[in-house]
Order: sequence, then structure tokens, then C-alpha cells
Amino acid sequence: MTLEANNPNKKSWLPVSKNSDFPIQNIPFGVFLTKDDIITIGTRIGNYAIDLSALHQLGYFDGISLTDDIFLQDTLNHFISDGRKAWRAVRSRISEVFDAENPNLKNNTSQREVVLFAMEEVEMQLPVLIGDYTDFYSSKEHATNVGTMFRDPENALMPNWLHLPVGYHGRSSTIVPSGTPVRRPMGQTLPKGADKPIFGQSKRVDFELEMAFITTDANVMGEPVSVDEAEEYIFGMVLFNDWSARDIQKWEYVPLGPFLAKSFASSISPWIVTLDALEPFRVESPEQNPQPLPYLQQTGSHSFDINLAVEIAPEDETPTTISKSNFKYMYWTMAQQLAHHTINGCKVNSGDMMGSGTISGPTPDSYGSMLELSWQGTEPIKMGNGTERTFIEDNDTVIMKGYCEKEGFRIGFGEVSSKLLPALKSELT
Ligand code: CA
Repeated sequence: MTLEANNPNKKSWLPVSKNSDFPIQNIPFGVFLTKDDIITIGTRIGNYAIDLSALHQLGYFDGISLTDDIFLQDTLNHFISDGRKAWRAVRSRISEVFDAENPNLKNNTSQREVVLFAMEEVEMQLPVLIGDYTDFYSSKEHATNVGTMFRDPENALMPNWLHLPVGYHGRSSTIVPSGTPVRRPMGQTLPKGADKPIFGQSKRVDFELEMAFITTDANVMGEPVSVDEAEEYIFGMVLFNDWSARDIQKWEYVPLGPFLAKSFASSISPWIVTLDALEPFRVESPEQNPQPLPYLQQTGSHSFDINLAVEIAPEDETPTTISKSNFKYMYWTMAQQLAHHTINGCKVNSGDMMGSGTISGPTPDSYGSMLELSWQGTEPIKMGNGTERTFIEDNDTVIMKGYCEKEGFRIGFGEVSSKLLPALKSELT
């Protein structure tokens, strides 16, 4: 499949710096608030936020079947419901309007004034109303590391792990966009050697380096989505920091899995990069052995080569990169996750979000959580300012970045950045 919007030679009349994540080949979707307090659906090229409802009013989407108010919304859910044909047509039209060869908007100063905003002038919002959030556990390296630490190095993977993408239903109410601070949670933990739990602030707050995909309406209740069709129902992807409290998790997670250790916060990058834009960066996922059951079998390339990095910035300090990983390490693909999720007839809606699970690579510098990077707190990580970290400290900012690059052309996700605030009732610890 060749999409003209993905043509690497295309240039925009808007300025785009060489290392920008947002050249004209990206055209992600998001929701922003302008300085006049107007909320709108938009896209981004270079350092400009583009108001799609203004473009629509000016007739730039004529000929595409869209309702008048499709972009005058505070979430992308309705637009995502319109389906892949609509997303593709809109992305393609935006690509034409901002093409360096197209003078229409470029030479119309009054129209440009209502369509374009400097990124500094807008405030990014949560791009979708997330109905349901599911989190998978699909990195073999991560599952092996955690199994080694918490259980038995000889049997690190549970017997089901190689046969199905393990997942659990998470909490969507506390998913927040990049820039929203997160508070250290309070909860129950079992101190080492104790036989009774105590209540207090979590002492092991961690990040999880993940990506998440956003779906459209995929099925009716009772009918599964096949693995071969699953990608048709994926709108796009974001960076995802699935904040975790390891000490709370360790005490509460048996036998039903994580609960309060995860639901206090999860942070996402605000621009959803479409699967269409990621198409040039498609790669094979790791070989699966044993072969999964037929409903999970796939041929072809169903992963994406997305470079990922995690930085920690102590308060008022420059960030230190502490991990570099890649989405392509995921053992189970997004299509397999969605096929498995619906194989029992579970309904998936527009605006649902599915987390990949922590994305750890094969080497210790590519692990996707402090739990693994500091090996349960036994091997502290050195920061640029000389201090050390085993877990995240109060007022640290965790920054995750992601981009694809090939033959000199790059698209990316920007970042998800969030600061950990001290616990609300620290005197109780
Ligand atoms: Ca997670």
C-alpha cells in the first residue's frame, strides 16, 4: 500500500526543523485549547497546531463525507467512529493543503490567522474520552525479568504466557495527558519480614515504558475481530507511562492482579499518530515459539520500528536518559492483542485504549521500568547530577519519547512528561 501522504520527499510550506517529530508525513490527531478558550480537534506540523474545525469551516474538506461539527468536539471519539476511510481521506487532504506546492492556504493571510497557532499558544488535552482501558503484558523480556525477581528464575514465564497475550482491565478515569502532575499514592504495603501490612505512602513509585493503541468501534457483542482484520480497527498510537507503585502491587496483586498499584495514574502523549503514518516503519515481530493457536496466527509484518527513550529530570535539573528501548521488541502484536481481547465476544468501542505492557529490550540499558533497571532497588541508577535513583523520587519528572527514522526521514510522538508530586498525607507514613 502506498499513501501519497507518506511520500518522504514531500515538503510543507510550514517550517519544520530537521529533527522534528512532526513533518508533513506525520499528521497526528489531537485536541487542544486555544488562548481564546476554544477547544478544537487539530493536527500538528512542525511547531504549529492546526485547527481542523476552522479548516473544515473554510471548506478545505469539501468532498469528504463529514458532519459539520465533526472537528468542533472536545474528543476525537466521533471522528474515530467514522472509520479508516474517513481518517485516511482527512489525513490525505491535510497533506495536500500544507504541501509546499499548494498556494491556497499558504497565500491567504486571513485564513492562516484562524487556522494556525504556535504550539506555545495552545494547551493539549486528553485526545479521546477513553471508555475502557486494557493493559497487556506482552514483552517477553519484561515478563521474564519480573518473573525472575518475584518468583523463580527457572520458571520465570507463567505457563500461559507463550500461548496468549496476558492482559487485565485497567482504570480509564485516571488517564491524563502529558504535563499533568501525578501524586505519589498512599496504600497498604507489607514491610519486609512483617506479618501485618502498614498504611502509608508508596516508597516504590515506578514508571512503565509502554505504548498504547486507540481503537474504533470494532465489533458487536458476541462477535470476535479476526487477527487479519484487527489493524483496520486501530486508529493510532500514543506513548504511555503506566505509573505503578511496586510495594502496593506486591502485597495486593494475588490472586486477581494489580489494582490500586496501577489505578492512581497513567499518562499519555497528546498526539495520536495514525497506523497509516507508521506504515513505512512496519517490521516483523519476534518469532513466536511455540506457534500460537490458529485464531492468533499471523503472517507478514505486524510490528513497528519505534525508538523509545526514558529520561528522569530531578527538580530544576537537566534530564538524564536512563533507558532506550524499541516497540519492535514486543512478542505479541497489537493485532493479536485485539483478536484475543474479542475472541470471547467482548465489545470494543471507539476511544478504547489498549496498553502494550512495559516494553523492555534484551539488554539492561533497554529495560522499561525502574523495577528492572535497578533490579528491585539493588542496583541504583546514576543521574547526571551525581545523585542515584532506585525508584522515582518526589518532584522528579519522567519523560518518555518515541520516534521512527528511516533513510533520513523521521516521524515521532513528541513526548509524555509528568512530574511526581509528594504524597498528599506524608505525615501518615
Ligand atoms: Ca502496565
